Amino acid sequence: MKLITLQYRIKDETTGKSLLKMASAVSFVWNYCNEVNYDRWRKFHKTYSAFDLNKKTAGCAKDLGLHSQTVQAIAEEYAKCCKQFKKAKLSWRSRKRSLGWIPFKAVGVKVVNDTITYNGLTFRFWLSRPIEGKIRFGSFAQDAKGHWYVNLVIEDADRGREKTGRQAGIDLGLKTLATLSDGTELNRENLTRSFEKKLAMAQRAGKKKLVKTVHAKIKNRRKDWNHKQTTKLIREYDTIAVGNVSSSKLKKTKMAKSVSDAGWADFKRMLAYKAISLGSEYKEVNESFSTVTCSVCGERSGPNGLSGLRVREWMCKSCGSPHRRDVNAATNILRSINAPFSAQGIVRRRESPLL
Ligand SMILES: [Zn+2]
Repeated sequence: MKLITLQYRIKDETTGKSLLKMASAVSFVWNYCNEVNYDRWRKFHKTYSAFDLNKKTAGCAKDLGLHSQTVQAIAEEYAKCCKQFKKAKLSWRSRKRSLGWIPFKAVGVKVVNDTITYNGLTFRFWLSRPIEGKIRFGSFAQDAKGHWYVNLVIEDADRGREKTGRQAGIDLGLKTLATLSDGTELNRENLTRSFEKKLAMAQRAGKKKLVKTVHAKIKNRRKDWNHKQTTKLIREYDTIAVGNVSSSKLKKTKMAKSVSDAGWADFKRMLAYKAISLGSEYKEVNESFSTVTCSVCGERSGPNGLSGLRVREWMCKSCGSPHRRDVNAATNILRSINAPFSAQGIVRRRESPLL
């Protein structure tokens, strides 16, 4: 079973002094282990096992304000380090200067969405990526700047994928965020718009911290959505083709707000690395003319104005096939893995190559 560690930053306002206090108790237990272990070494030239240390520290958790599983985790980590470094004495953990560290086991915590409850205390963290898989153990840890993080060690659910024999072309858009060649549509609320009022109010009131918080919230929600959707896509399709739409180019147009809200760059980046780790194929193709080309006969027969967002459906003038604009584009994107558009049909009109 592969174990991976996910790290999440805990929101400062929820940490208070409680974590520091517990970290100090952890250091106390660690130092105690260190003391008795070294004492035994001096007298008998033997060290204690995790099992022995567990027995020696049993019952102290409550007095120290720690979860009993945490005390066990400390003893186990201590014994592991002694063995690893072949030492009978490890460095002393200063209760003031050492960076805070509070290990725990899965039974000692409860994780719900972006909150973790430990020892009767609830902390909130930035859910920068979804927690997929079973939590085994973890720790709270502090960095040099004093920020707290929660590390969750989980059983990696990503153990490859089974072939499904399905392929998908994806048209990334503004109205529908992503349309698949099989007609599936992926949508979420426009986050920039949803938080617009709140942001404007905070900005007017000069509440800089709140502005930052709202921006972070938007970013996290977008990231979370991207993670969920891309994982699902990679699991469902053996091959995924996406157009090389340049969001930086579109950002200069009047649709800029929607474009930056879409977050395509992230979406594509996630698809690319998940495809590698899960064993499916991801391709980025030139999507010029994908919108105006008929996916049935290959003629560039799409009507004028297709580049705008208003025309959602059209009929091919050449072969009479009815098309939904985005599904047609996605179908062309999928097809272009094997045959680029430039080889199909004849250019009848000068279309914007981008849309
Ligand atoms: Zn046609």
